Amino acid sequence: MTIKWLKLKRIAEKILDGKEVAFIATTRMPDDLVAGTEVRNDAAIIVMNMAYVKGIEDVFQALAHELAHAITGSAAHDERFRRTMEDLVPKIKGMYYEERG
Ligand SMILES: [Zn+2]
Repeated sequence: MTIKWLKLKRIAEKILDGKEVAFIATTRMPDDLVAGTEVRNDAAIIVMNMAYVKGIEDVFQALAHELAHAITGSAAHDERFRRTMEDLVPKIKGMYYEERG
């Protein structure tokens, strides 16, 4: 099954209120990191570790995790982060499977 990366990019951009989102897939990432995010004024760059992010369910989890960091504006994995991420997983899946394109 293919992964619709451009659709995921549009979904991420909607969730971040129109901020441009770029994905980077890499095999050169520390073993303890699944993904990472750099949020700038105009764009968010989401890096995914190819050692772990292999299928669409992995992408949903990694994307929700990183977007939750972008939304909370924090690297913390606290209660607010957890709730934000829990909301994002079904939201992203819904947008991915329900919308055309
Ligand atoms: Zn994290």
